[in-house]
Amino acid sequence: MIQLYIPLNFLGVIYREIKQALTDLDKMFDLLEREREVRDAPDAQDLHAEAPPVVRFENVGFAYEAGRPILHGLSFEIPAGHTIAVVGPSGAGKSTLARLLYRFYDVSEGRITIAGHDIRQLTQASLRRAIGIVPQDTVLFNDTVAYNIAYGRPGATQAEIEAAAQAARIHGFIASTPKGYGTMVGERGLKLSGGEKQRVAIARTLLKNPPIVIFDEATSALDSANERAIQAELQTAARNKTALVIAHRLSTVVDADQILVMEAGRIVERGTHAELLAREGRYAQMWALQQQGGAEAAADVAAS
Ligand code: ATP
Repeated sequence: MIQLYIPLNFLGVIYREIKQALTDLDKMFDLLEREREVRDAPDAQDLHAEAPPVVRFENVGFAYEAGRPILHGLSFEIPAGHTIAVVGPSGAGKSTLARLLYRFYDVSEGRITIAGHDIRQLTQASLRRAIGIVPQDTVLFNDTVAYNIAYGRPGATQAEIEAAAQAARIHGFIASTPKGYGTMVGERGLKLSGGEKQRVAIARTLLKNPPIVIFDEATSALDSANERAIQAELQTAARNKTALVIAHRLSTVVDADQILVMEAGRIVERGTHAELLAREGRYAQMWALQQQGGAEAAADVAAS
């Protein structure tokens, strides 16, 4: 019991540290770098992925805690330059896939490969350079907007930062603030909305221009106009990349090359939107429910 208590307590300390110092997912990984068990193998190689590589999950099993498996024998491939979207109920294990690909944790069974390399045999630095993440809830640095965007590629020029912001459609907003790109954001500065923060994260990813991207869609609902616009920007950022999109709304996944439907840590269906609708299974049910929800929402608006 004591043995169990100490690590949990230790995790609690790390968690508080994260909560206090949290900037974003990348920073969180940096913080945990010191303490976590994932380490470079002594013979780890650098990943050289200039072009988008193929990513494979091969019989991946995973448990955060012993005795409570979360993923069971998951296999799928993201062909080079393609987008795979993952949908499923809350707790199905969708975000866990993203955490494993970024190697926040190591798989308990099976393996994940990038361009044929087991990611446990790659240096973490090169792995993280190759992957851009737009997390569910972007928490920004207490620094300038320019710094927050350029974090994706230190040394980026002002013109490059602005081009990324333009592509993420946040340039107009930034330019309208008195200090523009020099505006401080975060706790002690300008508070941005959830959508604006996501756009900053998208701009950062565009600037970083990694061959692999992971989008963990925000669960908190944006208004639908904003949501559609963000989806368009996400698609821009995923173009010609190997992309893993964790979707909480089915409207996000309609154009994905392949959709995985997850339930309780297993893939229960897979296919394109049209294929899955034709199958009349879980996805088709979820789609019908969401359409109904949309119709009800539309009726509410019409009635008000
Ligand atoms: P959502 O749609 O709500 O974001 P999800 O499908 O992304 O859910 P995950 O976040 O992958 O689900 O979580 C899968 C399961 O793993 C859940 O039961 C969750 O409680 C558990 N879990 C997630 N993170 C941890 C953790 N750090 N330690 C222990 N269990 C965890």
